[in-house]
Amino acid sequence: MATDTAVRELDAVVIGAGFAGLYMNHRLRDTLGLDVHVIEAGTGVGGTWYWNRYPGARCDSEAYMYCFAFDQDLMQEWEWSGKYPEQPEILSYLNHVADRFDLRRNMSFETRVSSAHFDEESNRWDVKTDKGEHYRCRYFITGIGCLSSGQIPDFPGRDTFAGEAYHTGAWPHEGVDFAGKKVAVIGTGSSGVQSIPVIAAEADHLTVFQRTPQYMIPARHGNVDKSVLDEIKTRYETIYEKARHSVGGFPYDVQDRSALDVDDATRQDIFEQSWEDGGFKFMFNSFSDLRTSLPASELAGEFIREKIKETVKDPEVAERLLPLDHPFGSKRVLIDTNYFDTYNRDNVRLVDINVEPINQINETGILAGEEQHDFDIIVYATGFDAMTGSFNKIDIRGRNGQKLKDKWEAGPLTYLGLTSVGFPNMFMITGPGSPSVLSNMPVAIEQHVELITDTVRHMDSSDLELIEAEPEAETAWVQHVNELAEPTMFMHANSWYLGANIPGKPRVFMPYAGGVGTYRKHCEEVVAKGYEGFTFTPADESVSA
Ligand code: NAP
Repeated sequence: MATDTAVRELDAVVIGAGFAGLYMNHRLRDTLGLDVHVIEAGTGVGGTWYWNRYPGARCDSEAYMYCFAFDQDLMQEWEWSGKYPEQPEILSYLNHVADRFDLRRNMSFETRVSSAHFDEESNRWDVKTDKGEHYRCRYFITGIGCLSSGQIPDFPGRDTFAGEAYHTGAWPHEGVDFAGKKVAVIGTGSSGVQSIPVIAAEADHLTVFQRTPQYMIPARHGNVDKSVLDEIKTRYETIYEKARHSVGGFPYDVQDRSALDVDDATRQDIFEQSWEDGGFKFMFNSFSDLRTSLPASELAGEFIREKIKETVKDPEVAERLLPLDHPFGSKRVLIDTNYFDTYNRDNVRLVDINVEPINQINETGILAGEEQHDFDIIVYATGFDAMTGSFNKIDIRGRNGQKLKDKWEAGPLTYLGLTSVGFPNMFMITGPGSPSVLSNMPVAIEQHVELITDTVRHMDSSDLELIEAEPEAETAWVQHVNELAEPTMFMHANSWYLGANIPGKPRVFMPYAGGVGTYRKHCEEVVAKGYEGFTFTPADESVSA
């Protein structure tokens, strides 16, 4: 039973030791000299890459872009091995960062923040953990990730299954042995699509339960010659600067051509070339309007459907795999390796749960439609309560004891995706309403961490006690975020961006769809205009602690 211990006074508490928490710790502690403590639920650093250890897990951002850019030496010394960074390699990288900057010495592991309450008497945050620790701090900062709260649907009888069951986002550290086993994977999002080919190659038999067929672009993953990466390193500053001012946080050249303005043969050639290149370039580097024009998106969708039909040998299976009910780019674009080829294997079966719904999970397996499927292992690749789920798990209360969860009941309300009215001196790194998941995350994270650092520096040097968003600014920001999403393909599908994967969750588009470059510029203007939309309370006007 946890007991309340002495209160520890600090400048800042940061939750999470992933990319966000690591860098925030470094900036506040080592650049500003603040007394900071980081609280992390895992036994080590890594965040997403600590938890998501499922087979095939890797990032869809190219490796040379999926890292910190704040330290030239760090950038030069780290060697990536492949086109895309695999989970063990990213975890090694983040451990290297933690070692290099000695970031663990002010961290608690295996500890969860249970509550964070703003005390209006002292203008301090009281942060309590499940270990009974109590911190009192000026700044309360969340680096809790956008996809950290795993969800396993409440299928009837779910907990009666007698075999092994795993969620991709909470994978056992010792791994799972699939050899000789009958395995089910439920879900065909990024996690399912990465793990399915690897599990199929190991297991005796794999059955995939699919709700929504997906569009995919081949990754073209593989080793990258060291000389290529060395050459990239000579241009790192330019590359990152381009990424910082791009849409998706990638340094890809932007094409100023519509898919509708070229003839069929030219379009086909461009799609083919982008398909050969693989990865997100297909989306960002082929045509300018795949994200915003339904007819353009449909042309890309048709191209991909043809590729699926060419790849999958059994026409009936291919038909079930064709995404027809949502346009390309309306859900997270998936990057795959051998996904569709996997359905040509004799030991793989696809169940369309729209035709054969999962009626029950029982002791031996899954009853889908009228058919019983027996399994040794069920893998839930069923996603996350994205963007707000991890906030809702913590009892966060601002002014007048208002709970963040209550304030966000109809959808997250933030100013810049960074702050929320009524929650002074609380900063959310890549919170809802910022580009976050629509971009290459390290680029978005660095921008937020640096903005928070500059803001804290400004407050300390100007003797300002509190920063708080203004209600009008927040209302306008939420409206702006909605308006940006409205003309995009994102509004044409049931996705986790809209909360549609969680029963009862309000249907609100949560990330900022204007691109990291535009967002960065907007933040710079806010600061240049004296932190427009924020109110500061000077130290001498506040009640002293
Ligand atoms: P996800 O994209 O939300 O996919 C979940 C899958 O489970 C979907 O196929 C979904 O079907 C299905 N599902 C959910 N609830 C279900 C239910 N009640 N019955 C049947 N099926 C159900 O989750 P994820 O694959 O874990 O990926 C989440 C995000 O994490 C990604 O979009 C990406 O941003 C990030 N991620 C990135 C990488 C990477 O960089 N490579 C890897 C993994 C994850 P519906 O489509 O019908 O909802």
